[in-house]
Amino acid sequence: MSQPTPVTPDTLIRPEVRALGAYRVVDATGLVKLDAMENPYPWPGDLTDAWLARLRDTQLNRYPDPAAAELKQRLRETLQIPAGAELLLGNGSDELIQILITAVGGREAVVMSVDPSFVMYRQIAGGLGMRYVGVPLTADFQLDPSATLTAIEQHRPRVVFLAYPNNPTGNLFDIAAVREIIAATPGLVVLDEAYSAFSGKSFLGRVLDHPNLLVMRTVSKLGLAGLRLGFLVGRPDWLSQLDKLRLPYNINTLTQVSAEFALSNMGVLEQQARKIAADREGLAAAMAALPGLTVFPSQANFILFRVPRGTVDVVFEGLRARGILVKNVSAAGSALSDCLRVTVGSPAETAGFLQALTKCLA
Ligand SMILES: *Cc1c(COP(=O)(O)O)cnc(C)c1O
Repeated sequence: MSQPTPVTPDTLIRPEVRALGAYRVVDATGLVKLDAMENPYPWPGDLTDAWLARLRDTQLNRYPDPAAAELKQRLRETLQIPAGAELLLGNGSDELIQILITAVGGREAVVMSVDPSFVMYRQIAGGLGMRYVGVPLTADFQLDPSATLTAIEQHRPRVVFLAYPNNPTGNLFDIAAVREIIAATPGLVVLDEAYSAFSGKSFLGRVLDHPNLLVMRTVSKLGLAGLRLGFLVGRPDWLSQLDKLRLPYNINTLTQVSAEFALSNMGVLEQQARKIAADREGLAAAMAALPGLTVFPSQANFILFRVPRGTVDVVFEGLRARGILVKNVSAAGSALSDCLRVTVGSPAETAGFLQALTKCLA
């Protein structure tokens, strides 16, 4: 008998996985981190003490509550989840995107969003070998209703993701256009409201009005990115199906206890979010006054801006050399050419960013 050919990644790993680019996170060591929409503010000292006291009583030798019942109840109360709606928790909303796409998947299935938007929709669909369609936004990053409705008619998507506000553009979409898309979609529409704390706008209260609508939230941008907790809200018949794909203990004990604690002190997080949203306006105005910048309006905790043509890599590296890390979202020839995205940080971080940016543009 001949020796079997040794197995290699090129023969064993599915082609769609091999074709995938890895999701890269730039090393931020030693830099002011304005690349990932994190809340810059710590908790007041007495809150930290109370949290640590709660952790002291937490038993790590036991599995987590698989239903995360206390945390879900806290979410219901804090966020006024409609009474008839169910909740599904994920290890970050990224995991929920994965569950959703896996559940509706299959090689013929189309996942749709707009372009530009959040990269994980495309990334996860790609890894599962599904077709991804990103419908271009208009030049000012609004929904293009006729192009979107045509694409829906043509591709019959199983799921449409709309980030509201959108990432990386920062804007909210026109509500009437969103409703039209929900009504026209033969599959699910998921409104990804990762930035709702900064926009004040949400479909959560009306989620049950539409038979094919789910609303997705995360606590990451609110100030709890390290916990990894996202949640889907919608009709129980949808969520009970999706729940079968959730791994039994996906929300670990430390996350359940800490999130429940943080949400019971929601006032602190909301106050921080209000400050960030107010500071965003000052930052946008200061940036708009700099020569050669186009600053796009934002309802989130970050700002997308365009630098003079051909200078994006120089500006990005210039900022990094001055200790500031932003996100380079530019791709030549795309709608985001020459664009960078900056998180609204603390006043000191923002001042440092503006000073560095001014030097980079000189
Ligand atoms: C950051 C972000 C997420 C990811 O949230 P996690 O809960 O941290 O996984 C999802 N959607 C959008 C639009 C985001 O910007």
